[in-house]
Amino acid sequence: MTVYVTGLTRGGAAWTPKFVESIDQGQCIGCGRCFKVCGRGVLELIGITEDGDIVDAFDDEAEKKVMSVREAANCIGCESCAKVCSKSCITHRALAA
Ligand code: SF4
Ligand code: SF4
Repeated sequence: MTVYVTGLTRGGAAWTPKFVESIDQGQCIGCGRCFKVCGRGVLELIGITEDGDIVDAFDDEAEKKVMSVREAANCIGCESCAKVCSKSCITHRALAA
């Protein structure tokens, strides 16, 4: 049986965090809503060039901007980022203890 990392809400109810796992950059429109709502510095906007290279989001070579997971280790599994994403491109996963 898999046992997941769990916590308690302030009211004492069990809560299983689901940590950010990946972002479907093919669906992402680079709106930045997830970045704004994350208080843990997990996400980073990046630029993709015509050749598919990753550059700074504001580099002149960037043909499109997409979100990426920069510091997955900082995620607390609140899922706020997924809730504000209109493209449903962020996936999360509970971790086994
Ligand atoms: S689940 Fe919460 S902490 Fe993790 S990346 Fe999304 S908003 Fe940030
Ligand atoms: S909210 Fe969704 S579409 Fe917008 S930048 Fe984040 S992952 Fe991309």
